[in-house]
Amino acid sequence: MIGARWPCVSRLRAVRSALLALSLLLPAPALACGQTTHVWVSLEAIQHLPEGPIADLLADPELRNILVNGTMFPDGGYAVGDDYGEMAHWEPLQQAYLAWIRDRYAGEYSGREAQEHVAFLLGLASHGMSDEVFDSLFYERSRAYDPGHDEEVTSLDTASDVTFARDVGGIPQPTSWAPFDELAAIYGDDLGYAVSADTLRSGQGFLYTALAYTEWARTSEERLATFTAEFPWAAERMNDATVPGSPPRQAPVVAAYWQDLWLRLHADLAFDAPVITMEPPAGSFDHPMDHTTVEARIHLTFARGVDDDTFDRISVLDPDGQDAPVDVDHFYGDMSHTVLLRPRQDWADDTEYTVVVAPGLLNFDGQASTTEFRGTVSTAPPPPPDVARPIDPPAEEVCACDAASGAAFTPLMLLAWRRRRC
Ligand SMILES: [Zn+2]
Repeated sequence: MIGARWPCVSRLRAVRSALLALSLLLPAPALACGQTTHVWVSLEAIQHLPEGPIADLLADPELRNILVNGTMFPDGGYAVGDDYGEMAHWEPLQQAYLAWIRDRYAGEYSGREAQEHVAFLLGLASHGMSDEVFDSLFYERSRAYDPGHDEEVTSLDTASDVTFARDVGGIPQPTSWAPFDELAAIYGDDLGYAVSADTLRSGQGFLYTALAYTEWARTSEERLATFTAEFPWAAERMNDATVPGSPPRQAPVVAAYWQDLWLRLHADLAFDAPVITMEPPAGSFDHPMDHTTVEARIHLTFARGVDDDTFDRISVLDPDGQDAPVDVDHFYGDMSHTVLLRPRQDWADDTEYTVVVAPGLLNFDGQASTTEFRGTVSTAPPPPPDVARPIDPPAEEVCACDAASGAAFTPLMLLAWRRRRC
C-alpha cells in the first residue's frame, strides 16, 4: 500500500499551502474551505445510489451524520498546518483505512461499529473525488474567466462555498463524530506518519467554524456581493448541472465511486468498469476545436487511482482509426482518478473522434482493467431531431374538404407538423 507512489502533487498542495499562508492573515473561517459544498455533494450523492446496501446504510440519520464528518475531515489538516489533511484526500490513506475496516470486520458490515467506519470512509472518499473533479473541470474554467484568481484576495473555494450555500439554502448542520484514535493509529502504522488524535480533533473543530461561517455568510448581502464580483462566472454556475465539475455534476460521480468502494470492501478487486464518467459525455456534439481552450480538453474519471505507466492504453482515434495527437496525463499525480486528454492541435471541423481506454490499465490495487471503454465526441453540430413521417390526415377530414381546398390543406398541415417537431 505504502509502496504505491504518492498521488498528491504540486497543484493541490500549492493551492492549499497558499490558503494556509493566507490563514495567518485572515480570520480562521477563510482557511478551511468548501465544507458546505462538500457536505451537500455527499448528501446529494445518496440520491444517486441505486437501491441496495449503501443506500440502506446511509438512510440512517446517525450514519449520515458520520458520513458528513468523514466528508469534512480531509481539509482539517490545512487548518492546523498538518499534512494529515493532504494525505486524507488520496487513496493511500483511504485504502489503508478500507483495508483496516475489511480486516477488522471480515466483510460483515451489519454491526453498528462497522457501519460507522464504513460511513466515515465513504465521506473521505466523497471529499477526495469531489476535489479532483471540481479542480480539474470547474476550477480550471473559473481560472480562465474569473478575475478573483488574479486578485488573490479570496479563494474560489471560500467564495463558491458561500454563493453555493445561498443557492441551495444551506445544509443540515452536523454534530462532530470521527474515529480520531483509530485514524491516528492507521496514519502511524500504515503510512509511517505520526499524528496525534488531538491534532485530528483540533483540525475537525476548525471545520465546524468554517461551516458556521458559510452558514452566516450565505445570507450576508455584503459577502455575497463581494464574492460574486470576484468570481462572477463561478457564482452563476456552481448550481448548474450542465457545467462540468459543478457540485450537481459531482454527486453521481461520488455515488458511482462509493459503489466501487463497496466492492473493494468485499475484496472484489475486479477492474471491469474503470471509467466512471467522460467529459464531455460520450456522444456529445459541438465540441470546441480550439486546442488552447479549457473546453477543448477531454476528461476521464476513473473508479480507482490509475497508473500513468499504462497510459498507452488511452487514445483518441480519428474517423480513419488513426491516433489524434493528444497529451494524456493525470490532473494531479500518479494513482489519482482524473485524467485529462489535452489536444496538441485544434480538433478538425465536422469530425467524430473516439476515446478508447483499452484493457490493461493498471490501478492502485495492482489490478489491470479487463474491458474496453469507448466514447465518441464530435465537432459537428448535433443532427436535427428526427422528423417523423407525417401521419396521413384522418380520412373524415379529407373527406370534409372539396377537391380544391383539400389539395391546399394537406401541404399546410405537413408544414405545421414539421414546425412542431422542430
Ligand atoms: Zn479538500
